[in-house]
Amino acid sequence: MEDCKKIWNELSIGISNNISTISYDMWFSSLEPLTVAYNKLIIVAKLKSTKQAIYKNYRDLILAEIKKLNYSYINDFVIITPDEISVYENQIQEDKVQFENDVDNIDSKSLFNSDFTFDKFVVGQSNQVVYAAAKAIANQPGTMHNPLFIYGGVGLGKTHIMNAIGNEILKTNKKAKIIYCTTEQFVNDYIDSIKNNKDNEQNRKFREKYRNVDILMIDDVQFLAGKTGTQEALFHTFNDLYQFKKQIVLSSDRHPKELTFLEERLQSRFASGLTVDISTPDLETRIAILQKKAFYKNFNLPIEVVYFIAEKIDSNIRELEGALQKVIFYCQLLGKEADNIDIIKEALKDDIDVTTHILSMDTIVDATCSYFNVKKQDIIGKKKLKQIVMARQIAIYLIYDMMGVPLATIGSYFGGKDHTTIIYARDKIEELIKTDNLVNNQVKDIRNMIQKQ
Ligand code: ADP
Ligand code: MG
Repeated sequence: MEDCKKIWNELSIGISNNISTISYDMWFSSLEPLTVAYNKLIIVAKLKSTKQAIYKNYRDLILAEIKKLNYSYINDFVIITPDEISVYENQIQEDKVQFENDVDNIDSKSLFNSDFTFDKFVVGQSNQVVYAAAKAIANQPGTMHNPLFIYGGVGLGKTHIMNAIGNEILKTNKKAKIIYCTTEQFVNDYIDSIKNNKDNEQNRKFREKYRNVDILMIDDVQFLAGKTGTQEALFHTFNDLYQFKKQIVLSSDRHPKELTFLEERLQSRFASGLTVDISTPDLETRIAILQKKAFYKNFNLPIEVVYFIAEKIDSNIRELEGALQKVIFYCQLLGKEADNIDIIKEALKDDIDVTTHILSMDTIVDATCSYFNVKKQDIIGKKKLKQIVMARQIAIYLIYDMMGVPLATIGSYFGGKDHTTIIYARDKIEELIKTDNLVNNQVKDIRNMIQKQ
């Protein structure tokens, strides 16, 4: 049952805020919610030892967090092992009806991931159009872009932005009726509704659920492949909602035109509003995302390290987050700060190629310092002595030239300098290389030193 997954997700966030990441990973990360029965959330643990440990050490915490969630129909939890699932199965069937009635009473707030807000969404070139469209919809659902169709590869923020729409609308309108569901949920609901042909009641429920909404958001519609019955149901739902100016938001891993397995009429409906794509983030956006995530996790990551991870992991944001999680876990395990690249390399050795020599901002600054015989803290600081300023500007130029680090990132590395200062330094050295032989040779020498390392 999908709804209990949502509840479990929320509960997990509450729990993880109260214990160390290590304990969380050890005891909670492998648990799976099963269902709700007897007003209890039923959770499956693979091992009996996990079950016992949780009862012994975390019972009060879990109960307190359940209380905080404030679902009227859950006041306790039960942990079972896989061999006990069958005991609950009968009960689950009976409870389902009750549960579904209760679901109608859930404040929609609980249906969205509270981490997926507009505030926590970093906007860059790759996603600015999607962001703008989503914001417009959250401000005025149903009036501008209907449907909004978002497409893009895995882990790029589609689910995040859909949840953000939901969270945003509920901020101003607590009563808004919003459904966000995965395609799988929609398909399952549809199948449930036709399972018993004689039972028109189920059918009515399905229609009521999906057509009595202000906003319907369905995630990952590529999974409608081969589901002709559901496609038909969605077609009618779509028309109904559209006609009454209710907002529809859809996401997929590809453009509607490429959803060739869809009934043509549905395909053309999907493409009839605004279709926007979300692409892989550039380096600057990846850096900003890592900084934001680290900030929310209260974890200190020096800019050099942020740059290193963002540079190496460029496929998608989920992997970027995974890498950050790993680094945090690793550092906590060893009781160390993430303050140098060697620790990061060790933490991420399975994910990135660490065998090749890695050029870092530190390497360039160190070489420049030793060449000019100045101290690193001076070059990074604010001193205005001629020799230091020269060394600083050359280091900035070389970092930009050899590594392509974004200006703002170089600025943060040099003690929080404005990007205009960085541009000034870079352009000045670039000019001097052409006009001043001494500087030209100095830059060449330092470059050689770095490359020989
Ligand atoms: P998708 O649904 O496209 O596969 P998700 O929305 O699940 O991707 O995003 C994967 C992860 O990356 C989520 O944890 C999400 O918070 C994060 N993420 C994606 N885009 C951004 C962004 N622009 N800013 C911050 N985090 C993001
Ligand atoms: Mg998704």
